Amino acid sequence: MKAQSANTISHSDSIKNDFIHQIVAEDVKANKNEGRVVTRFPPEPNGYLHIGHAKSICLNFGIAAEYEGGKCYLRFDDTNPSKEDIEYVESIKADVRWLGYDWGERLRHSSDYFDQLYEYAIALIKMNKAYVCSLTTEQVKEYRGTLRDPGKNSPSRERSIAENLDLFARMKAGEFADGELVLRAKIDMAAPNIHLRDPIIYRLKKLPHQMTGDKWCIYPMYDFTHCLSDAIEDITHSLCTLEFEDHRPLYDWFLDTLNTSCHPQQIEFARLSLNYTVMSKRKLHELVENHHVSGWDDPRLPTLIGMRRRGYTPAAIRDFCDRIGVTKNDTSIEMGVLENCLRGDLDPKTPRVMAVLKPLRVVIENYPSGQVEQLEAPYHPNDASMGARQVPFSRVLYIEQDDFREVAPKKFFRLAPGREVRLRYAYFITCQAVIKNDQDEIVELRCTYDQETRGGSAPDGRKVKGTLHWVSEAHAITAEVRLYDRLFNQPHPGANGTDFKVALNPKSVEILPHSQVEASLANAKAGARYQFERQGYFCVDNVDSSEGALVFNRIVTLRDSWAKIEKANLGKKK
Ligand code: ATP
Ligand code: MG
Repeated sequence: MKAQSANTISHSDSIKNDFIHQIVAEDVKANKNEGRVVTRFPPEPNGYLHIGHAKSICLNFGIAAEYEGGKCYLRFDDTNPSKEDIEYVESIKADVRWLGYDWGERLRHSSDYFDQLYEYAIALIKMNKAYVCSLTTEQVKEYRGTLRDPGKNSPSRERSIAENLDLFARMKAGEFADGELVLRAKIDMAAPNIHLRDPIIYRLKKLPHQMTGDKWCIYPMYDFTHCLSDAIEDITHSLCTLEFEDHRPLYDWFLDTLNTSCHPQQIEFARLSLNYTVMSKRKLHELVENHHVSGWDDPRLPTLIGMRRRGYTPAAIRDFCDRIGVTKNDTSIEMGVLENCLRGDLDPKTPRVMAVLKPLRVVIENYPSGQVEQLEAPYHPNDASMGARQVPFSRVLYIEQDDFREVAPKKFFRLAPGREVRLRYAYFITCQAVIKNDQDEIVELRCTYDQETRGGSAPDGRKVKGTLHWVSEAHAITAEVRLYDRLFNQPHPGANGTDFKVALNPKSVEILPHSQVEASLANAKAGARYQFERQGYFCVDNVDSSEGALVFNRIVTLRDSWAKIEKANLGKKK
C-alpha cells in the first residue's frame, strides 16, 4: 500500500462521520430536542467571508440539510456598529448563496433581538445577577486579575437592584457618555475561568446602527448576545470554533440563570488554516486597506469573493470542506489539498482551448501565404458531448517562448534548431533557422511543415517527442493573462511574532499583456472557465475583462508544482 502523507485525506474516512455529525446523529436518535436539528451560521458583518468561513457554512448548512425538517439560520452578529457595514452584509449573503446554500425564511440579525436582550438584562438585574459598574476600562482590566491571581470586586458590585435598574434605564436613555458606565453580570471575580469574572454585558456606544438606526446607544456584548440569540431561534447545536471553548461556561451560565426554554449545546471545532495565506479578518483588512492587494476580491486572497473572481467553483470548495472534515485539533492544511479539489472539479467539465502566453513568432516557409485551413479540435479529450471547434492554421503562427531552446538541454523534447515536433491538431514542423535582432534576442523562427502529417501523425510512422500548442497570428486575439501564485512565500506568515507582511510574495502575480488566445474565445463571457492546453485552468476576469479587451486569471496550474518545491526544500533541510 502507498504511504499517505498527512494531507491526503480520504473521502470516505472523514466525510460525515466526524465527531459533530456523530453527536447530532445520536441526539436525533435519542429524540433529544424532539429530534429537531437547528443550526446557524453567525458571521459578524465586519469584513468579507473567507475559506475558513466556508468550512463553518458547509458544516452548519450541511448538517441541517441532512435531516428532514433540519434548519439553518443565517444570522448577522451585528452588535458592534463601529466596525460593521451594510456592504459586508450584502457580500456575505452573496457568498453564502454562491456556495450553494439557501437560508430561506431564516435570515436574522442579533439586532432583531435588541428588545428581548434588553429585557433579559433587566431580568438579570432584578435577580441581583447584574450590576451597573462605574470603573473605567483600565480599572475593569486591572480588577479582573490574571490567570494566576484572582480578581477583586468592583466597588459598584454592591449597588442596590433599584439603583441598577435606574442607572441602566438612564444608560439606555443616553444620559451618559461612552465608556462612563457598563452593565456587568455578577458571577465570581475569583473564578479560575476569567470569562466568568463579572463579564461586561452592555456598553455605551453612541453610534447609529445599520439596522436599528438611532434607537439604541447601548449595545450588548458578544457572549451575552450569542447564547440568547441561539436560544431565541431554538438552535439545537451551536457549532463554533475552538477559541470559544473557554466561553462555554459563560454561555451556559446565561441560559441557566435566565432559565430560557431552549438551551442549545455549544460544540467547538478547529478553525481552518491554510498554508501560505492568512485568514484573520484583521490581517485581511490590513492587506486591503494598505493596498497590498487590489481589494477584497483580489484573486490572490482566500476571500470567497476573491476565489470566485479567480475562478474557483463552489463545488470544489464544498468538496474541500468535506475532505478536510471537522476535528478538535488545530492544523494547517496544504494549499495543494484545496487545489486538487479544484482540479478534480474542473477537469471533467472544462473545455480545452489553445493560448500562447509568451508568444514567439513562427513562419512556416513552405506554407502558402494567404492560405488558411480550419482544423477540427475537440473541446474535451474524454467527453465528445462537449463538441469541437475549428482552429485556423496559416503560414504565420505563435508558439510559447518556453517551447523553444536554441541549445536544447537533455530531456528537452520541444522545438530546437533542426528538431521536428508536432503542432497540436495540425502538422509536424521542423525548425530551420533562428532570426535574431541587434540585441541578439530571438524574434522569429523559420520552420517547414510536412503536408503529409495533417492531424498529427506521419504516414511513414516516424515519431516526434514534443507536442506544442500554438495559435495563428492572423486569427488570434490579444489578451491579458494574469498568472497568480501564493500570496505569501512562507507557509505560516507572521509565525514567531514576525510581521506577516514581511512574508508577502513579491512574485504573487505576473501580468502577461501580450498573450494570444485562439479565435474561438472572442465571445468568452466573464466568469467562463477554460483549460489552456498544457498551461492550466483560466477564467475570464469578472471585473477588468471586456469585449475586445479580454483578461484571463489563472485559476490553478495543471499540476502541483509546489509539492515538488516543498519536497526539495525538505530534502535540503535534512
Ligand atoms: P476572524 O477570526 O477571521 O476575524 P471571526 O471568527 O471573527 O473571523 P465571524 O464573522 O465571527 O468571524 O465568524 C463567523 C463564523 O465563522 C463563526 O462561527 C466562526 O467560528 C466561523 N469561522 C471563522 N473563521 C473560521 C475558520 N478559519 N475556520 C472555521 N470557521 C471559522
Ligand atoms: Mg468573531
